[in-house]
Amino acid sequence: MARIVMKFGGTSVGDIDRIKNVARRVQREVAAGNEVAVVLSAMSGVTNQLVEWCKQMAPLHDQKEYDTVVATGEQVTVGLLAIGLQEMGIKARSWCGWQVPIRTDATHGKARIDSIDTTEMLADMAAGSVAVVAGFQGIAPGNRIATLGRGGSDTSAVALAAALKADRCDIYTDVDGVYTTDPRIVAKARKLDKITYEEMLELASVGAKVLQTRSVEMAMKHHVRVQVLSSFVDAPGTLVCDEDEIVEKELVSGIAYSRDEAKITLVRVADRPGVAAAIFGPLAEAAVNVDMIVQNVSEDGKSTDLTFTVGRADLDRARKVIEDNKSSLGFEGLVADANVVKVSVVGVGMRSHAGIAQKMFQTLAAEGINIQVISTSEIKISVLIEEKYTELALRALHTAYGLDAA
Ligand code: ADP
Ligand code: ASP
Ligand code: MG
Repeated sequence: MARIVMKFGGTSVGDIDRIKNVARRVQREVAAGNEVAVVLSAMSGVTNQLVEWCKQMAPLHDQKEYDTVVATGEQVTVGLLAIGLQEMGIKARSWCGWQVPIRTDATHGKARIDSIDTTEMLADMAAGSVAVVAGFQGIAPGNRIATLGRGGSDTSAVALAAALKADRCDIYTDVDGVYTTDPRIVAKARKLDKITYEEMLELASVGAKVLQTRSVEMAMKHHVRVQVLSSFVDAPGTLVCDEDEIVEKELVSGIAYSRDEAKITLVRVADRPGVAAAIFGPLAEAAVNVDMIVQNVSEDGKSTDLTFTVGRADLDRARKVIEDNKSSLGFEGLVADANVVKVSVVGVGMRSHAGIAQKMFQTLAAEGINIQVISTSEIKISVLIEEKYTELALRALHTAYGLDAA
């Protein structure tokens, strides 16, 4: 007997027939004698709609109330699946985040899980019941509902697997594994049998939304065996595991893109000590994450242009924070551009091989694509380019690094 966590994303629970399909998958695991906890997302499109309604109510709204609204989608699916399982003669009950409880910090809108008390759930599972848990949500200090950031059900699942000391955490989705790049954009993308935690973490953090970044962080920390597989076809998926489990390592294992970026350029910022702190301090206080940064060489020694990227969803807030501080910062103008995409190449091979960045720059140049900002880490190179070149850049890089499926 194994204890397993099965997570199903939005498309997999997109309508009643699909939820019945999930119930049959759960039934198989129960019939095999396993103890099962299921984590669900909201039906696809539902969370987007809820987010949109909050924006329509007020563009800059209270994040606690935002969480109250956007967490509701998952309550619907867990109740429906529990009903479906009961209908098949399987004991099951639904659990909202607060009922478990899954405790989070107070960062509403992108809260982190602090702890999960599994006592009651384990007792229920031991009595033969399937636990059907609402993903994406928890309870923050002050007994307020919190959500874990978009795509957060992956993190709920991995965190629950760690807390339950589960043997496996199976992430069922609408593709049959992790690919060398998004298979919906590059038809020649190749499915990976295995990928290291580290590479998956880097790919997720630069936009491969097949797994939420924090879920991979959590899996790596607690050594949770995560498998990504399809809810619709029976085929082996991709195992996310330690580096020593992978025999053949690629130089570059994947390419990701993120359209969730926006670029801000501050024109003629004073070129003196303390300016960067004065700009990025208030942004950090407003919980705006800044990603890529470039500062141009100052021509006159007095002022310079500073360009950086923030999440597209944070653009309005970032702009307001900077404009509110304009008098103390002393810049001439602010230019915002949401028409950008970040494309990143990831691979552990970069640690030991030179020339990988050069290949990226050459490939993009050959396609006539201008690079606006560059950033690198030990196993990743990212570039910011105009959004309209997303597909072209991904396909060209995929071919250039020899990743195309035969
Ligand atoms: P779910 O609703 O099941 O959580 P998501 O939409 O969050 O599903 O994630 C699955 C999607 O991730 C796929 O449909 C695919 O378009 C996208 N994706 C992006 N990069 C990759 C990749 N490298 N491998 C597989 N899927 C990817
Ligand atoms: N329903 C949430 C979202 O759309 C969480 C998830 O699907 O993982 O972001
Ligand atoms: Mg997802």
